[in-house]
Amino acid sequence: MMIDRLARPRYLMVLWLSGCIALSGATWLCFRLGLDLSATGFVFLIVIVLLSLMDSLISSIVFSIFALSCLNYFFAEPLFSFQITYARDLLALAAFLITSLAITTLVRHIRRLGNAQREQARLLDLAHDTVFVRDMSDVITYWNRGAEELYGWKKREALGKTSHDLLQTRFPTPLDEINETLLRTGSWEGELVHTKRDGVNVIVGSRWSLQQSESGRPLAILETNIDMTEHKRAEEALRRNQAQYLAEAQALSLSGSFGWNVSRGEIFWSDQSFRIFEYDGETTPTIEMALARTHPDDVAFVRQMIDQAAQTGQDFDYEHRLLMPGGSIKHLHVVAHAVRDDHAIRRFVGAIMDVTAARLAERQLREVQAELAHVTRLTALGELSASIAHEVTQPLAAIVTNGEACLRWLGHPIPSPEEVQACVERMIVDGKRAAEIVRRVRQLTRKGVSQKVHLDLNDVISDAVSLVQHELLSHRVSLRLKLSPELPPLFADRIELQQVILNLVINGIQAMDALSGRPRELLIETLRDEQGYAVVAVHDAGSGIKPETANRLFKPFFTTKPNGMGMGLSICRSIIEAHGGRVWASNHASQDAVFQFSLPPTNVNESC
Ligand code: ADP
Repeated sequence: MMIDRLARPRYLMVLWLSGCIALSGATWLCFRLGLDLSATGFVFLIVIVLLSLMDSLISSIVFSIFALSCLNYFFAEPLFSFQITYARDLLALAAFLITSLAITTLVRHIRRLGNAQREQARLLDLAHDTVFVRDMSDVITYWNRGAEELYGWKKREALGKTSHDLLQTRFPTPLDEINETLLRTGSWEGELVHTKRDGVNVIVGSRWSLQQSESGRPLAILETNIDMTEHKRAEEALRRNQAQYLAEAQALSLSGSFGWNVSRGEIFWSDQSFRIFEYDGETTPTIEMALARTHPDDVAFVRQMIDQAAQTGQDFDYEHRLLMPGGSIKHLHVVAHAVRDDHAIRRFVGAIMDVTAARLAERQLREVQAELAHVTRLTALGELSASIAHEVTQPLAAIVTNGEACLRWLGHPIPSPEEVQACVERMIVDGKRAAEIVRRVRQLTRKGVSQKVHLDLNDVISDAVSLVQHELLSHRVSLRLKLSPELPPLFADRIELQQVILNLVINGIQAMDALSGRPRELLIETLRDEQGYAVVAVHDAGSGIKPETANRLFKPFFTTKPNGMGMGLSICRSIIEAHGGRVWASNHASQDAVFQFSLPPTNVNESC
């Protein structure tokens, strides 16, 4: 854009020329009218004030000096000369000059202020925000175009009205409190609800700023409002969407949520929680409602958990069952986290998960595993049948022998009651021995899922090896037991552990079948490890574990035996893992294979 450098001098020349002509005209008129120095000076002042509206200080000075010259020449004694005879004329001329300059400066200042205000108002009109000013009685003194557009009232309609009445303002807190903050801090911000001219409500983000005099006296309030209605609507829609997604996710995962304000005794359930408990979503949830659905066998436990959480304020995590009105059973997993706020109010937020399907699947799996374990136990017993038969036949043969001896003593011409009693006592001992073997075999044929009891692992080992005595003899294997008296107490299924031990012992015996030139020794050792776990190790002197098969030993159906099933070690693993332990194999010393398993000590909760 080209700037015309001569425009300003040209304007000044024209202004000064026309100003001087105007002042000359005024001089001629006053002279003709015979006005004196003071009256003419007054007329000049009017002309100079009008001229000063058109330009800067320089122009005012130029016009004032020209007017002063005219006054001096035409109206001060001696006339038509620039000399001054009387001091009063000199004084009048000086007063004229000072007044002229002062008034023109003042006029220009007022003009500049007016311009600045107009510019501010123009800028406020350009802004999209609504801006209005109200005095301390809330009467509107300024109303910008943004306010006209938002509220529908024109400036002339709004000015002079009380803003809160015109806009039917709804405040978030009492107006007195807001005004108190405004006067104390000089500003206030918050959300207001205003009513437009057409009766529609708008939510605005409002900012009030207090205008004060230099002495700090409150003069007016500048209120800037931004229309937040759309933003709020979008926020609400988003919140509704999120709530909907959450509800759908909860329905999909069969997980409900809850809130529990212990201090106030208030409970909140999500829709899915209502569905899990099968209550109408309109009801107000209570702890008693949850207990009413709890399985009668679990009520005492759940009540204890709730009381404990309320008293200690600690997180909780437990499972229990529900007995639904139709007779069906649900398994629930409840997890809650304690939340403490500033006012020390005890609250919990948590989730209720319907884990019925998972628990049923687990039960089915346990049943299938138990079935499989039963079958493999029967298979192992089949393998041991000769040995077991021998274990039973031995005491039976002894009973027969003692019975015959008894008869012989009774048929003796001089019967000896002492000998007969000794024979009968031996028969009783042998009878009990045979019965005990039969009892143990019957135990092993038991069918059903795990039944955990407190037991002594060394006893379990002794029971198991009593069934393989003949097996050991027939394979020329010597058994050594190194049982530690320091074992931790265990909570486990006796039959399952016997099965594991029998399986490891039979495998050990079979592994030494091809052994020649070395003693066939099987060592069963028990110990307590550093973590307090009970460990059982079965050492044999066979050919050891081949590196290429080491990682497949515990896999189902892995076998290297011609008639093997490959299920023994796999079942051992599932039994031990179901007891919270682990099983592993390694080669010890030169080639000896060691199969070991460890079991955790009794867990107080477990045994309850
Ligand atoms: P099965 O006895 O029917 O083969 P197992 O699961 O009991 O099934 O054993 C799987 C395989 O592990 C065996 O076939 C054998 O190769 C290996 N194994 C088991 N015990 C021993 C052992 N004490 N020494 C060497 N290998 C063994």
